[in-house]
Amino acid sequence: RQAAFRTDLSVLLDQVGGGKESLSFMKRRIRRLAPQWATAANRLGAKLGQRWRDQKKILIHVGFLTEESGDVFSPKVLKGGPLGEMVQWADILTALHVLGHNLKISMSVKELQGIMLKVVFNRGSCPLTGPLPFDLIYTDYHGLQQMKQHMGLSLKKHKCHIRVIDTFGTEPAYNHEEYATLHGYRTNWGYWNLNARQYMTMFPHTPDNSFMGFVSEELNETEKRSIQQNKVNNMAVVYGKEASMWKGKDSFLEILHKYMEVHGTVYYETQRPPEVPAFVKNHGLLPQHELQQLLRKAKLFIGFGFPYEGPAPLEAIANGCIFLQPKFQPPHSSLNHEFFRGKPTSREVFSQHPYAEEYIGRPYVMTVDYNNSLEFDSAVKEIMRTKVEPYLPYEYTCEGMLERVHAYIQNQDFCVPEPPWPPLSSLRLLVSQEGQSCVEACQSAGFICEPAHFRFVNNKEALRGLEVQCEVVDSEINHILPAFSVMRRECSLQREPLLFSCAGHSPKYRRLCPCRDFLRGQVALCRDCL
Ligand code: UDP
Repeated sequence: RQAAFRTDLSVLLDQVGGGKESLSFMKRRIRRLAPQWATAANRLGAKLGQRWRDQKKILIHVGFLTEESGDVFSPKVLKGGPLGEMVQWADILTALHVLGHNLKISMSVKELQGIMLKVVFNRGSCPLTGPLPFDLIYTDYHGLQQMKQHMGLSLKKHKCHIRVIDTFGTEPAYNHEEYATLHGYRTNWGYWNLNARQYMTMFPHTPDNSFMGFVSEELNETEKRSIQQNKVNNMAVVYGKEASMWKGKDSFLEILHKYMEVHGTVYYETQRPPEVPAFVKNHGLLPQHELQQLLRKAKLFIGFGFPYEGPAPLEAIANGCIFLQPKFQPPHSSLNHEFFRGKPTSREVFSQHPYAEEYIGRPYVMTVDYNNSLEFDSAVKEIMRTKVEPYLPYEYTCEGMLERVHAYIQNQDFCVPEPPWPPLSSLRLLVSQEGQSCVEACQSAGFICEPAHFRFVNNKEALRGLEVQCEVVDSEINHILPAFSVMRRECSLQREPLLFSCAGHSPKYRRLCPCRDFLRGQVALCRDCL
């Protein structure tokens, strides 16, 4: 069946159900952004023209919100706990619904079992042994674990249909069970032996994974103009809804306060949290739309290092703020920071919000060394002088997200060994420097690493084309391959396709890197990808 765009979200809102605070938060968000989604659907519809889009049967099982996973998020929705995941799930649900697919939504293990049972009844086929009644399953690490418990071995058979929503990303070395175990990449999360592109991230930080994203509020021209007229040049909002994020930040707050009126949205019960200085105007945790209103007036949105990589800085920039954030030197990673410890990635984070730094940058984003109070001081002064327009990268608009998810759903196929997408026309073969990863090598040439293209460069012909003098060419299981050592005149190809990895580097090896072009403002898609 052909999928038809939907602009009415009432069926989706009914499907999400209710009761828990987390679900209410998601429903409020879906309702608030409904007009924006409808406009985006019409625009993308016009852009794609009469193109055929398959309607897919999709199961969505949100594992982290189930009681069985301990649901640590729901009780904290109104108390300053993390909301990024709920923002993203609300937007994924909406995107799939708007694209016109056939959704079954489960937020508890009971619902999951119910859905599976119904399928048995209606079709007389057993989901445990018969064909999978869904084309796609979106879940998260918690959900994956639960499905394994309830589907057992059949999960393995249906693995290629699964997509795992994974905020911070999973690198191939951590995903490959045997390799992870042997080489010290074992964590609580990885080792599912999926194709790494089946993991879908919040930001495009790990090209080994697919970039799913979320959306931010969009403004029309009238709103943009009125925001610019009503900006209060000396008004700052602090990024951090939980009091602990303010701990030990007094000296920066003092400097900031020399020039600006400082606002906060820190959750509190009855008393003002002691971490928040008296001169700060604390609004308490705000509903999303009220936070937007505050950001529309403010000139500066300032981060103190935590939380990492959340949605709020994009919302601030979309509402005409400049985002000021700390540089991390040395970078934070699972090796040296508690928050990342045990996460299935070695990615090094060089600032609080690397996407803001690398993809948006000045004048919207300033990343400075907070240990240098002069640098901090002059950044604040510069921000007060600088005029910016509200800005939102296309990939974080509703249309951008719909376009990307549409492209994934229609083209990404992990059930066949040699899928034709993304098209080979997008490939640019590069060689990294010694010690450089393919993520960096591609990036420094204005491209992005494309793991799907490794299979085209993992051969002797590719090595010959580069005029590398190999004395030996062997094949091994190692996530930095294919690569060669100049010194030793040794070339190695990759023997395990699951270990093709953009991440990973070695001081002795130069890597063969399959890079690809990308659309401006839509890094997930190549020029011929749509
Ligand atoms: N947020 C909110 N009220 C507030 C502060 C933040 O509703 O007072 C929302 C904000 O709009 C954003 C979400 O919280 O969409 C997540 O924000 P953050 O960047 O802090 O990421 P998190 O660490 O919560 O995942």
